[in-house]
Amino acid sequence: MIETVQVTKTYGRVRAVDGVDLAVPEGARYGLLGPNGSGKTTLIRMLLGLVFATSGEISVLGRPVPRRLHEVLPDVGALVEGPAAYGHLSGRANLRLLDAAGRSVRRTRRRRVEEALERVGLAGVDARPVRAYSLGMRQRLGLAAALLRTPRLLILDEPTNGLDPQGIHEIRRLLLEVNAAGTTLLLSSHLLAEVEQVCTWVGIMDRGRLVGQDELAALQAPTGRVVLRSPDADRVVALLDGRVADRDGDRVAVIHPDAAALNAQLVAAGLRVAEIGAERRTLEQVVLAATGAGTDRMERR
Ligand code: ATP
Repeated sequence: MIETVQVTKTYGRVRAVDGVDLAVPEGARYGLLGPNGSGKTTLIRMLLGLVFATSGEISVLGRPVPRRLHEVLPDVGALVEGPAAYGHLSGRANLRLLDAAGRSVRRTRRRRVEEALERVGLAGVDARPVRAYSLGMRQRLGLAAALLRTPRLLILDEPTNGLDPQGIHEIRRLLLEVNAAGTTLLLSSHLLAEVEQVCTWVGIMDRGRLVGQDELAALQAPTGRVVLRSPDADRVVALLDGRVADRDGDRVAVIHPDAAALNAQLVAAGLRVAEIGAERRTLEQVVLAATGAGTDRMERR
């Protein structure tokens, strides 16, 4: 759905985006993860033709951008840095105008707008002008605008910015729903947990570079260790002896490829197992390994 080859954007001496090869497969929920200033917004703006690349190639929905942008945009929904809206009009009026500006059927406009408002939780919104909206309401309105046409590709820059936990939860659910109905998602975030919960693919940005890109499941491959909790931890350690990698109270990490087999072995030896499972790398560890630095600039929640 998106492919870039060595795309680069420089501002003076700053390389905001530096030789990025982005590949977003059809149907994916792709999360572009990186701290503030790592180049996510600049990359997204180039994909939408809002910023021109200094060098490199961009293809969206199989067409070169920005050269054939006009053919691409009707199939792409986007929410980029604070949605543009007329502040003196209501959210509903804004959506009607936007819908009228597109190639949509007039007869069904009212219904389309109401549906879009409903999907983002703004159905009950009054005639208040948009300039009186909270950041969260503006974010929802921007998403409603992006959903007016069912886009093949939805590009969102920090979609949950400014939303409260309830709002974040609703938007997350909506994104999963939209994706299940066939829309490919590309979203940027500086929140590890958000990407971990929503995305199937992850790209890791660090100082303009894409330092890692893969399916989340592949990035979080098992480590080859099994972690268990047992009230008989002392006896577990004695039994497994040389294979114990780590012990902390009732928690024991064992170098072992198969949690089920290990569980059977312990139970057969008369040892009680309260919890057991294959250890997987957390996304935080993946990011740490990819950037060779701390995640202190990225939030963990
Ligand atoms: P944020 O989440 O804060 O938007 P980001 O990862 O999206 O961060 P960008 O906004 O793309 O990062 O910024 C990448 C770098 O490029 C930063 O160093 C920023 O200061 C610089 N930059 C971005 N836009 C411009 C511009 N118009 N002029 C000069 N420098 C810019």
